[in-house]
Amino acid sequence: MLTLLFLTFLYFLPAIIGRDKRDAAGIILLNLFLGWTVIGWVIALIWACTAEPYALVHFVPVPRGGRFCCQCGSLTYPGAHFCTACGRTV
Ligand SMILES: [Zn+2]
Repeated sequence: MLTLLFLTFLYFLPAIIGRDKRDAAGIILLNLFLGWTVIGWVIALIWACTAEPYALVHFVPVPRGGRFCCQCGSLTYPGAHFCTACGRTV
């Protein structure tokens, strides 16, 4: 029973590695349908290891006239002449 679990884990290893990558659906489908051929499993594993992860983009609403400090990167108030975090002239 333990061997069967281990073999199932080994079979779906490319899908597990690539589950949070950009091409996750393709990796999982290739692993599921062509993983039984050894070449399909190897291609899915290489694809899972080389695929780029999702790039997280943070949205920061900037008030009108607000700017980011070039010294520390913090947001300043609209119309401010000095950064409130580091004191540098904005
Ligand atoms: Zn600053």
